[in-house]
Amino acid sequence: MLVDRFDRLISYLRISVTDRCNFRCVYCMPAEGIAVSPRSELLSFEEITRVASVGAELGLRKIRLTGGEPTVRRDLPQLVEMLASIRGIEEVAMTTNAALLDELAAPLKDAGMSRLNISLDTLDRDKAARIARRDEWDRVQRGIEAAQREGFGLKFNAVVMRGWNDDELGNLVSFAHSCGAPMRFIEWMPMGLTGQTDRNQTVSWREMLGHLQTRFDLEPEAPTGADPAKMWRCQRTGARIGFISSMSDHFCATCNRMRLTAQGELRPCLHQNAEVDVRRLLRGGASDDELAGAFREAAGLKWAGHRMNDIIPLYSSKDMVSIGG
Ligand code: SAM
Ligand code: SF4
Repeated sequence: MLVDRFDRLISYLRISVTDRCNFRCVYCMPAEGIAVSPRSELLSFEEITRVASVGAELGLRKIRLTGGEPTVRRDLPQLVEMLASIRGIEEVAMTTNAALLDELAAPLKDAGMSRLNISLDTLDRDKAARIARRDEWDRVQRGIEAAQREGFGLKFNAVVMRGWNDDELGNLVSFAHSCGAPMRFIEWMPMGLTGQTDRNQTVSWREMLGHLQTRFDLEPEAPTGADPAKMWRCQRTGARIGFISSMSDHFCATCNRMRLTAQGELRPCLHQNAEVDVRRLLRGGASDDELAGAFREAAGLKWAGHRMNDIIPLYSSKDMVSIGG
């Protein structure tokens, strides 16, 4: 079992498979100048699978692939198949911008992926292009359709930023519900270079709820396990809404996750500048026991909670795209 200093059981590994992306979202990465790693510095599928297997021996049960944009990593279904066949791993899921799902949804499903979180910040084509700094609207729409066709368990996620998309919350809820999926709203988090903009861009979950209550008759759902989202339900339509309130009401006390960056660092927390270099161990011929030691070391480093709201706040020096959201 992997337990940290605060008695939290770590059972969920988010694996970044690439630091590249076909979008340039304003909240995630700078428009230009972001350094991407040469291929040789990224973990191979075999290396990722080995780390995940050792993690599964320690009690990891769920894996989520992320990035950068995970679908830009070549032959991704092959990795999904390798991860899904690890003994102990119960679920392989992915977070994606959906632009490449038209081609990939079917092979990913066949490979054993069961759930997708799709990032969808707006229903306005022009605004989507401004947020992503790319016009990929048609491909995203086709990707969403492909995901539905393949029968994935779906959730939609939007990062809510003041003055950008905070006027669209109700419409996003209705769209997600028409796809049979919950709509989750993420509080914008200041990170890396992109975090050096105005912090007023964060819209708190209570403010979002206030807006939505003017349109929907909402009731709270009972919290489940380590789900970071506070879930609400529209009594009339059954539409489900989640709030991921990392800034205004963090959920660190029930955190069950750890991250593996594309370059092979185990990162105990998104917002903590601490990493354990697993790639060096893997490439230096380390035993499974030594890799298990790296997991324990990373769990031991985990803070009780992030420090983005301290009087002197501590932010991740890396942008989200370089860690894996
Ligand atoms: N490219 C994929 C995508 O966009 O879904 C996966 C990687 S992305 C880094 C993972 C998640 O992080 C997305 O839901 C994205 O919206 C979210 N995210 C990125 N930067 C963020 C920020 N500064 N604050 C809050 N959420 C952020
Ligand atoms: Fe790419 Fe996802 Fe970051 Fe947008 S949020 S730039 S799609 S990694």
